[in-house]
Amino acid sequence: MSKGKLVVISGFSGAGKGTIVKQLIERYGYSLSVSATTRAPREGEVDGKDYYFKTTDEFLSLVDYNGLIEWTKYVDNYYGTPRKFVEEELSAGKTVILEIEVKGAANIKEQYPDAVLLFLTTKDVDTLRARLRKRGTETDEVIEKRIKRAAEESELMDNYDYIVVNDELEECIDTVHSIIISDSYKTENMAEFIKSIQTDLSDE
Ligand code: 5GP
Repeated sequence: MSKGKLVVISGFSGAGKGTIVKQLIERYGYSLSVSATTRAPREGEVDGKDYYFKTTDEFLSLVDYNGLIEWTKYVDNYYGTPRKFVEEELSAGKTVILEIEVKGAANIKEQYPDAVLLFLTTKDVDTLRARLRKRGTETDEVIEKRIKRAAEESELMDNYDYIVVNDELEECIDTVHSIIISDSYKTENMAEFIKSIQTDLSDE
């Protein structure tokens, strides 16, 4: 069976990544990697579904035994991608979505050069701040920290294969899905197909 594909979705906090990723999983059956984090659960978040919520000691021991493909510190907390799930899904030929920040994305691209990297953004900073406020899960101080972090993240937008502006939700979901599908038809991803049709033709 052909190996699966890694799709990395990053974007400013508040750009709508969570909603878009959830819809992609529900509608198109992609696999979602659930990250480990030391951040406290937000209201309604479920351990093992939204994140694996860990203490700092637990997280660092995961790092020690190489249980994470990548990890980083983001606004005072650790976040990382568990290795086992991703490797199993890829070898089963699945498309796996990682919803991770920019440093993790760059790290993934080094280890998996075929990964598709998408960056989601709002059309401007005012919209971003308004969405973070509307979410109502963070204090003003944390919101401003996230805006500052967005400024740093914007420096790494050039590393991405695709930049998608989330202006209208449905359109954005369609765009991201189309990008994932289109990528699978890239010539470099069709090597096995090319070989097999060449073999068939040589038998004619
Ligand atoms: P939040 O606290 O809002 O859930 O996530 C904060 C940031 O951490 C988001 O940009 C999210 O994409 C990122 N993030 C979540 N899980 C991981 C992970 O496993 N690795 C990395 N590098 N970033 C992650």
